Amino acid sequence: MTRANRPIYLDNHATTPADPRVLAAMRPWWEENFANPGSVEHEMGRAAEAAVAEARAHVAELIGAEPSEILFTSGATEANNLAIKGAARFAAAQGTERRRVITLATEHKCVLESVKDLKAEGFEPVILPVRADGLLDLTVLEAALAEAPTLLVSVMAVNNEIGVVQDLEAIGALVKHHGALFHTDAAQAAGRIPLDVAEIRADLLSLSGHKVYGPKGIGALYVRRRPRVRLAPLFSGGGQERGLRSGTLPAPLVVGFGEACRIAALEGPLDTGRIAGQRDRFRSALEAAVPGLVVNGSTEARVAGNLSVSFPGGVTAQDIMAAAPEVCVSTGSACSSAEVEPSYVLQALDLPPAQARATLRIGVGRFTSPLDVDRAAAALAAAWRRAMESSDSNGASGDTPRTSAAE
Ligand SMILES: *Cc1c(COP(=O)(O)O)cnc(C)c1O
Repeated sequence: MTRANRPIYLDNHATTPADPRVLAAMRPWWEENFANPGSVEHEMGRAAEAAVAEARAHVAELIGAEPSEILFTSGATEANNLAIKGAARFAAAQGTERRRVITLATEHKCVLESVKDLKAEGFEPVILPVRADGLLDLTVLEAALAEAPTLLVSVMAVNNEIGVVQDLEAIGALVKHHGALFHTDAAQAAGRIPLDVAEIRADLLSLSGHKVYGPKGIGALYVRRRPRVRLAPLFSGGGQERGLRSGTLPAPLVVGFGEACRIAALEGPLDTGRIAGQRDRFRSALEAAVPGLVVNGSTEARVAGNLSVSFPGGVTAQDIMAAAPEVCVSTGSACSSAEVEPSYVLQALDLPPAQARATLRIGVGRFTSPLDVDRAAAALAAAWRRAMESSDSNGASGDTPRTSAAE
């Protein structure tokens, strides 16, 4: 493949490429020292343990936590399962009266399904709606908290489809006022917006390595120590990670994740400015070429790299993607985009199904160049025109998308 037609990657919500500095940091822990960081009886094991400790400190630093509050997991999916089910099972064993577990309709599936699974264990899952701009209405949360004793509230920091940033400080204050635990899935937020567990009063916070230019297959759960948050582990085993997550720590992945967090803490704010510029450049070019294009979700409370755009004229996102194969974007979250159903996140914003089906998620990242966004905007606009022509010849109707409330 020549340089001119190499794929343009604008799917940084699904995953980010590993930063070359991350790859370099990981390499010695695959090659020179492959020891188990639990093998503290010998020198190689102790060196691996020290590397893990340094990485843990970098992860903690990114969110204003103590290293001892970080548990490594296989990713944010596991961290979310451990936070939600672990907290509920521990509290149930203590005979808690608090049975309500609250989350949002727009959460990642691993949060939604973890909360719903707790019904079978005697809990009361409550799935709150969001406003048309994707943000949680605090009075809706307040009412849900006032209605019944609540054990835990899980609200994501940044949405993985529409990029909206929830007001975690206000949500955390409300949740703590009602004596519940506050968990946030921060997989899309880390390195993109400032995160401080004290400010947002999080008890539990989930992270993913491969969303912060780190390796895949590693993540972390922050578990507050003061006051101490107690969890029941999901796995039985050797008792690693303070007994909360048994299994040999993958030292190379841990080191890579730590390096990714170190870079994110240093360069995140710089990345954000550049990425926002790139995203706005893409948006202007696409809006100029596609009259009637709609941006979904709040434009103010939005993470820098994200755009969720609905195309007019009765075309589908699949038609556009098929006509612009060199552009790597998606119709929704990576886990569910194989489904023909329109995204449940867009449905939660009350988008008409036809508009949801004409929606693309664009994710600009650290390694996106101005040339990438120019080429992608031109390719998607041309693809839209072609899709319009073929749907016109099929006699499809040209309905215009509804404008999002935030616009
Ligand atoms: C990617 C993602 C996850 C899942 O993370 P993994 O590390 O891939 O398990 C969870 N929540 C959100 C918001 C995500 O974007």
